[in-house]
Amino acid sequence: MQVKLASSYGFCFGVKRAIKIAESYKNSATMGPLIHNQNEIDRLKNNFNVGLYNTLDEVKQNDTVIIRTHGIPKNDLKELKQNKDAKIINATCPFVTTPQQIVKKMSKDNYSILIFGDSTHPEVKGVKSYGEDQEDVHVVMSVKDLDNIKFKYDKIATVAQTTKKKEVYLEIVNALILKNKEVRVFNTICDATFENQDAARDLSKEVDIMIVIGGKNSSNTKQLHAICLENCPDSYLIENSNEIDENWFKNKKICGITAGASTPDWIIQEVVNKVEKI
Ligand code: SF4
Repeated sequence: MQVKLASSYGFCFGVKRAIKIAESYKNSATMGPLIHNQNEIDRLKNNFNVGLYNTLDEVKQNDTVIIRTHGIPKNDLKELKQNKDAKIINATCPFVTTPQQIVKKMSKDNYSILIFGDSTHPEVKGVKSYGEDQEDVHVVMSVKDLDNIKFKYDKIATVAQTTKKKEVYLEIVNALILKNKEVRVFNTICDATFENQDAARDLSKEVDIMIVIGGKNSSNTKQLHAICLENCPDSYLIENSNEIDENWFKNKKICGITAGASTPDWIIQEVVNKVEKI
């Protein structure tokens, strides 16, 4: 099988930075999974004894706690600092800190807040928590969701989850402008996501089969997979080389490979090696 790698794939700046931070704090633990990739989390545990707290209750007094790339809710951070006397190591991606600070400032200035994102995603939960009035911080996934929202003010400030599609954000922003006196739009979507997406789009047009490597709970990996499926129906999302099924490659000549922003190089290399042998 001939393998072609996307021109941009894999680890982004924020994930590389978070891993480097975690590697330098051996015997610590992260608050929630550091990144959305179980294989890399296992590697950090095995090689650096970096563990994982799933809940605040698991943190003991004076523990060293690494804050995950996606950030955590404001009150959780306060609890760690004030009640647990934890040593906080902040590995939140700076591109995630930005919408947190925008929400904090704009809600203090009496703007209603709209977040374009997935309300169940840890990044969005963290960003939302920075609003002054939680009742007036609204999260939408699409323009349709705006119908059910009652804003407290006629001034709206809006931010987006870093991994969301800008086309959908534009639809939401357009709809907001039609109905509200003042709309402040902050483009908090991350460029790293676009670069991988554009490269995946291009590559998926010229291959017979696409393999997307990444965590199945990773938002940006799922989007990469969706983009590839638009051009190449034989696109598969896998977490590692063990999930490869040789039957996928029957009558295929060229396999494109891309990977989400939290997929480590060693996993990508294992997949490339295995596909090349097929
Ligand atoms: Fe940061 Fe962007 Fe990477 Fe998310 S995708 S961790 S926002 S650099």
